[in-house]
Amino acid sequence: MSARKKDYYQELGIPPNASADEIKKAYRALAKKHHPDANPDKPGAGERFKTISEAYSVLSEPDSRKKYDQLRRYGGLGGFRPGAGPAPGAGPEAERSFRFEDLGGIGDIFSSIFDLGKRTTADRQRGPVRGHDVEYLIEVSFRTAVRGGKVTIDVPLSEECATCDGTGAAPGAGSDTCSECHGRGTVTFGQGTFSVPRPCPACLGRGQVPRQVCNACGGRGDVSSRRRIAVSVPAGVDDGSRLRIPGQGERGPGGGRPGDLMVRFKVQGDRFFTREGLDLLCEVPINVAQALLGSRIRVRTVDSKKIVLKIPPGTQSGTTFRIKGQGVEKGERTGDQLVRIVVGVPEDLSEEGRQAAERLAEAEGLRH
Ligand SMILES: [Zn+2]
Ligand SMILES: [Zn+2]
Repeated sequence: MSARKKDYYQELGIPPNASADEIKKAYRALAKKHHPDANPDKPGAGERFKTISEAYSVLSEPDSRKKYDQLRRYGGLGGFRPGAGPAPGAGPEAERSFRFEDLGGIGDIFSSIFDLGKRTTADRQRGPVRGHDVEYLIEVSFRTAVRGGKVTIDVPLSEECATCDGTGAAPGAGSDTCSECHGRGTVTFGQGTFSVPRPCPACLGRGQVPRQVCNACGGRGDVSSRRRIAVSVPAGVDDGSRLRIPGQGERGPGGGRPGDLMVRFKVQGDRFFTREGLDLLCEVPINVAQALLGSRIRVRTVDSKKIVLKIPPGTQSGTTFRIKGQGVEKGERTGDQLVRIVVGVPEDLSEEGRQAAERLAEAEGLRH
């Protein structure tokens, strides 16, 4: 629907001051509940899932969230009435500093909020156009991100209705020029530098009002579908990095080229490893005897191999050892695994142990 309002916080059921953790939690719960696979009989589930993913995609990145908050505070999310001006509380500063272009990379998402991408009658007369790009968030495990792999996703798509060619009118029924927008498809509200075109609510941005609505899409002009796609996750993919899959976006209206699928990766954390560039960091505890006398310990790699690491006598807590070539492989380069040693001191000693420690202290001249 064209004139819908989307408030990403409402979509996720969280307050606007929600923490990153709360956002993630809400998204996970909702995504699970509304995933199209879990709702095969609910035709609206795909749309809902798409909205939730979109909301998460924007709110989970601090930068885009900031921009979104600015837009939201300013009332640009449908709370406007033509001529109503800025939302209460938005000072003149906000008015001057706000531009839609400022939204940068997430402009695509916002164009879908406003649905300004909807084809008007004038567009239709211009012939085939390229379909919209579709954004999809893929959460991958730490290991998949390091080594790469295949992930299968179901992308919810909203595409032009083939029955009515996106007009929303029953075939042959014809339509009239919209009296609200005089066929323009948009109404402008606000004033000065802050003036925002918004799809006309009367004709859903088409400029034309059908005399009889299309049965296949209920007059919306678009239909929801899903497409299963196997995505090759490149080895060494970073959290937040994007991958463009050409031709897997929405179908091009009027027989135009399809849009692209823009995949964004969210990399899950790991209990043992963290990543720093191409290196994989981990912490391994050893005991006092191993630190004093030296030892050979077995360390797990990201591929679940065990590698023997020699700990020399007198190793300090916090010493880092490098296992060559066990990090992330990306192109020609391969990172290392860095093992940080943490020496554990026993909390309780037996009487015999205490006496031995006393003797050690005496022999080494350690004051205590
Ligand atoms: Zn239709
Ligand atoms: Zn109109």
